[in-house]
Amino acid sequence: MTARPVKRVIFCDFDGTITENDNIVAIIRHFNPAGWETIVNDIVGQRKSIRQGVGELFRLLPTSMKKEVVDYAISNAKIRAGFADLLAFCKEHDIQFYVTSGGIDFFVYPLLAPFGIPEDHIYCNGSDFSGERIDITWPHPCEGECKTDCGMCKTSIIRRFPAGQFERILIGDSVTDFEGAKLVDVVFARSHLTQKCKELGLPYHEYKTFHDVIDVLNLQEATT
Ligand SMILES: [Mg+2]
Ligand SMILES: [Zn+2]
Repeated sequence: MTARPVKRVIFCDFDGTITENDNIVAIIRHFNPAGWETIVNDIVGQRKSIRQGVGELFRLLPTSMKKEVVDYAISNAKIRAGFADLLAFCKEHDIQFYVTSGGIDFFVYPLLAPFGIPEDHIYCNGSDFSGERIDITWPHPCEGECKTDCGMCKTSIIRRFPAGQFERILIGDSVTDFEGAKLVDVVFARSHLTQKCKELGLPYHEYKTFHDVIDVLNLQEATT
């Protein structure tokens, strides 16, 4: 087997991608604080930045509910079929795998714990339960060129892997993936991200499970 000219790197979303549903929306819908629907609609409709909107959503919840919120998030989430197989495939084919999530640490890390992904390959937002309301913290903000106010800025991370040296692959489902999808070489999309790719005329592969992703990556492997 000859060496590939460029290394492949995957940037994989978490909510609605690795997990079947969006955990942030599931949490907020479950606890149902007044006013959440407008905020979610404004985020998805891109009338409000993700950072602002997600911050507002969690501030609707008091920190006295920490245990219920954390327990609900973790017990409610379901991992999409084929995820462990995709990780094994990446290892086998020397593809770097990063989780680039607009989700929150208190559910992202526990849900990923069984899969053995190194912690420095997981990017997500943080949380602070020390005040009266749940405060989201933003350790990976937009750098330089990104003016989108992402919260967890996927494009800032993607730009650390220069186009000439890496084939950049994004797997996602929704608004946190829109900017990254414009930047990368290969997009795997479902849900809102599929619509966005159609709107922008971006090529994409649709997936339902990670086995669909593996099939396409395998084909790439065979043809390059
Ligand atoms: Mg998502
Ligand atoms: Zn950004």
